[in-house]
Amino acid sequence: MNPEKWERIARLLKEGPISNGEASRQLGVRKRAVAEVRADLGIPPYFVRRGAQWTRDDFEEMSVELRGGHRRWRGRHSTQGVPMAGKDVTAYRLSFRLHHGREPVGKVTGTCRLNRCVAGGHLADAVLRAAPTVDLAALTELPAEATVQGLDMVAIRRCLRGPQPWPALSRDEARFALRFTDPDMTAVEVASRLGVSARTVERYRKKTAEAP
Ligand SMILES: [Zn+2]
Repeated sequence: MNPEKWERIARLLKEGPISNGEASRQLGVRKRAVAEVRADLGIPPYFVRRGAQWTRDDFEEMSVELRGGHRRWRGRHSTQGVPMAGKDVTAYRLSFRLHHGREPVGKVTGTCRLNRCVAGGHLADAVLRAAPTVDLAALTELPAEATVQGLDMVAIRRCLRGPQPWPALSRDEARFALRFTDPDMTAVEVASRLGVSARTVERYRKKTAEAP
């Protein structure tokens, strides 16, 4: 094997748990070559873990956090492109269970705009979809729940009043949080806390000041 190819395979294997098959598919090399490099590096073989055995750490290791609190799955995908955490367990179901601490009921669907996002707070099952919807626009105080309609209230609260580091908010979360910012805080500070531009904050403040 030439050093360049060895290096390419090694880099991918060192990035995180990945099966020889998936690595071979991603790099367009033989599975045998991946197995060789794995042995050279002393990286233990990868086993597809069954849903029940996954820990939150495993999940975080196999996915990457993106801006806006989204997550992309780094593991295997089905031929239809569905992120898979096991032979018949989608990464959506796994993520939902780790996030909510219970098995999802019915189909798990995304609540954010990112296709194939596996962030636990961005997924809903039949129970959550059937839950009475809160009129977010009518709220005058931040709700006490941890999540409301896919919005992470814990993260929002921390961004509004907590010390750094401030978690990344989705666009919807930032927009929602704008309504509850401290009026004495400068637009620049609010902007950096919520991950939006100072102009957005100023525009929002101007609009609400004009409202009757
Ligand atoms: Zn998302």
